[in-house]
Amino acid sequence: APPIICLDGPSGAGKGTVSQLLARRMGYRLLDSGALYRVTALSAMRHGVSLDDAEELAKTARNLAVAFEATPPGEPARVILDGSDVTAEIRTEKCGDNASRVAVIPAVRTALLQLQRDFRQAPGLVADGRDMGTVVFPDAQLKVFLTASAEERAERRHRQLLDAGIDVKISDLLKEIKARDERDMNRETAPLKPADDAHVVDTTGLGIEEVLDRVLALAGR
Ligand code: C5P
Repeated sequence: APPIICLDGPSGAGKGTVSQLLARRMGYRLLDSGALYRVTALSAMRHGVSLDDAEELAKTARNLAVAFEATPPGEPARVILDGSDVTAEIRTEKCGDNASRVAVIPAVRTALLQLQRDFRQAPGLVADGRDMGTVVFPDAQLKVFLTASAEERAERRHRQLLDAGIDVKISDLLKEIKARDERDMNRETAPLKPADDAHVVDTTGLGIEEVLDRVLALAGR
């Protein structure tokens, strides 16, 4: 089977950017598994499905009309839901927060499993998420778990949003990040934690290029 590099970790640890750069360097495809949870949450919101209705949410995930528009290796794909481009819409804090709520539902996770595994194609895959190394691709060649302090992750997110012209208080972002960590780490199905055979890389104080270099070194490049 084509090789897989898993990059797992909490929100804001730099996985998204590092995964994109890594996929480009390796010439691999990229799976942004968080986008699938975000799209599920968005689809539920659009169809008026309550975030408490586990059964309807699982149905939403099973019937997801989602497509990732092919882009050159390593570039963020355009995300299409029900025929319309939702690339920007799924990036909002609201969608991220709701994504982490639907992600606690076991049947939702099961519904998205095969969809994620189908991304494994030649010449290889970089898989970005929370449970890539523990659940989705347990046989991956390389598993990296990226961490950073919650404070640093909030600051990074703050800078990202500022670049996009959005000014949110760092203290609010820190609160959201902590709430999201709490939910991701304490859920019963596929809780956020490094796989036994994962390399844990603390990115606090490191720039993106430094993180990329460490991961490339682990990949033998
Ligand atoms: O990575 P991203 O912030 O886009 O993910 C949004 C939410 O989706 C996460 O907070 C997490 O709850 C959930 N998620 C997950 N498993 C993954 C990827 C994301 O549970 N593999």
